[in-house]
This record gives sequence, C-alpha cells and structure tokens, in this order.
Amino acid sequence: MEKKPCGIYVHIPFCVKKCKYCDFLSAPGDSKCIREYVSVLKKEIEFYSEKAKEYAVQTLYFGGGTPSILSEDLMGEITEKINETFDLTGLTEFTVEVNPGTVTFEKLAGYRKLGANRLSVGVQSACDEELKLLGRIHTYSDAAEAFRMAREAGFDNISADVISALPGQTLESYSETLDKIIMLKPKHISSYSLIIEEGTPFFYDYGEKGLKKKDLPDEETDRKMYSLTGEKLLRAGYRRYEISNYALPGYESRHNSAYWTGREYFGLGLGASSFVDNVRYSNVRDMGAYLMKPDERVIEEVLDKKALMTEFMILGLRMTEGVSKKTFEERFGIPMSSVYAKIIRRFIDEKALTEEGDRVRLTDFGLDVSNTVFAEFL
Ligand code: SF4
Repeated sequence: MEKKPCGIYVHIPFCVKKCKYCDFLSAPGDSKCIREYVSVLKKEIEFYSEKAKEYAVQTLYFGGGTPSILSEDLMGEITEKINETFDLTGLTEFTVEVNPGTVTFEKLAGYRKLGANRLSVGVQSACDEELKLLGRIHTYSDAAEAFRMAREAGFDNISADVISALPGQTLESYSETLDKIIMLKPKHISSYSLIIEEGTPFFYDYGEKGLKKKDLPDEETDRKMYSLTGEKLLRAGYRRYEISNYALPGYESRHNSAYWTGREYFGLGLGASSFVDNVRYSNVRDMGAYLMKPDERVIEEVLDKKALMTEFMILGLRMTEGVSKKTFEERFGIPMSSVYAKIIRRFIDEKALTEEGDRVRLTDFGLDVSNTVFAEFL
C-alpha cells in the first residue's frame, strides 16, 4: 500500500514567562513539569503506532509555547519516539520555533544533530522598548546572537517573525525593525499585525475599553505599516507567497504550505489539532487531563465533500499562487466553475480575484480584503 504524505506538529506548551499579548496555549513550567510532559507526549506518540503505518512524514514542526525551552536531550527523546513510530525516511523539513531568550550554541547544535534543518525565530521587534512592553524575555541583540549561533550550528534556513501595530510603535520604529530584521538575512519572514485577544493583560490595557487604547497606532498607521512590510521585503528580494508570509525563492515553509493545500497532519501534545481521514480533531487543552489521558481527543468536525471544497478554496487562496482548477476537479470530480462560478465572477469584477490559465488567485487588493472574500466561500 502506498503511504500517504503527512506532516507532524508537536506542541510544547511551556514558556519562561507569559508575554502580555499572548493567548496561545502556553504557561511557565519548571523542569520537573517539562520532563513529565515529555514522557506523556511519548506515550501519545505510541498510541499512533498502527495508524502511523499508513503515512510517510514529509515535515515535522515543533511549535509552542517555546520549543527551544527543551534541552537537546529532551528534544532527542521526542524525535526518537517519533522516528520509532512514524516513517521519517522522506522527511524534508524539520522546524523548531526558537525564542531568542532560551538558546545556547550547544542547544542549537544539538537540535541540528537531531535532524532539525529550519529554525523559526520569534524576533517580533528590533526595538528593545517595544519588546519589553510586549513582555518578551529577549532583546534585539539576543535575537541577532541567536541568528549567529544558529548559523554556526549549521542552520542555513532561518525564519524570523515580526509583529506590527504594537502599542507605542511608530511608522519610523517599525521601518527600523524591518531594516534590522532584513539585516539578519533570514530566508523567510512571517509578519503579523498585533491582535488584542480577550483574556490577555493587553486586553485590559488596550482592548475595546482599555485606558491605554490611545497608545495603539491608528488605523491609517496600521495600514501604512502593512504596506511598508510588502514594499521593504519585496525590495530586499523576498516574495510574498501567503497572506502573512514572505520567503526568498525556494525557502517557503513546506510545513505551513501543506496546511494550506489540504495535506493531512498529526498534532501531538497539549491542545494540538490534527486533520486525518477528513476528520479535524484536537487533543484536550487541560494539562491535568492530558497528562492522565494523552490519547483523549475531541472531534471538531467531520468534513464532507462540501466542507472539503470550501477548505480547498479558502486555504488555497491564502497562497499567492492561488488554487488550481485542474486539481479541484481531480480531487472532487466536478469542475470548480460548477460550484463557485458566481462568487469567482463577482470578485473578478471587484478586482479581488484574477483568473490566469488554470489558476484562480487573489490580486494585491484581494490579499488586503481576503477575509471578505473568504466569507463568501463559506
Ligand atoms: S513566547 Fe510565544 S507562546 Fe510564549 S508567552 Fe510569549 S508569545 Fe506566548
């Protein structure tokens, strides 16, 4: 039986301290707690022994939280268990998310030895005051040092995350951040606008009723920052290949690209989501419950043909290359036009979509209003 391609995401839900804007599933954890989590995570991986035989893993991604909180030994225990359970012979990309405040050369060299070939570094800003305000544990020079150590450890494929629309941030300080991030020469850059999520300390300060809301860049500045990101990164040789992601040619994230093209994936660890056999399910989000029963899962959605077609369109259009009509027809047995002709025509008329040969994709304007376009496909 031919094995199906898949990705694996491993969630490491620990951080040195919680950032003020963060609503990810993460919390500080001591070394005992982290060790216990790793041993339960290994049990969860074992539960997949049978199912794993159907798959060939193409990409492995350690996200968090702060995966780089793990010593090389603990990371090694997890990867060894994954290797025992899943077929990693076709693995092409192995990414570890890195918080610059948690790395040493030895640790990075250890990850490299384990097979990691890509790092995603949470730089976020090059302005130390902004980093402090965000509650980050690193400075820009820590981030630059993390890049230096990573290269010395043998990593060539390094991505940087950057956030705009921060409290107190000006167009000038953001522009400087972009310049300094470009100077680090990452192969890939993910750029996000700050979203003030309910329940975070920032929500009380900067949320709808927050007293400090006035410190946030206004809508016009936010929009200018967004345009500046595209302009500067394009000038520096990066290509925007997804709404929030830019890469030098050939360095697009394979793991994330596979999410957007509907490949199956296994999510391992606390609260991680999986998409297997057209079922989207999640692990439990409560640490106590996960440690007791790491194989307990919550089914979020069983995707029927209609839902799969919707996903194909919405996730595929996130990529600047758009969706292929031929692939749609091969996958679903009907032409794309028989389902979406009206919506596609409408957005072509509104200059948000364009059709070129086999592909339908968002225009630059469409990328700016993507949520409105996606809502129509729902
Ligand atoms: S390091 Fe990342 S996951 Fe951890 S608290 Fe900060 S933003 Fe959240």
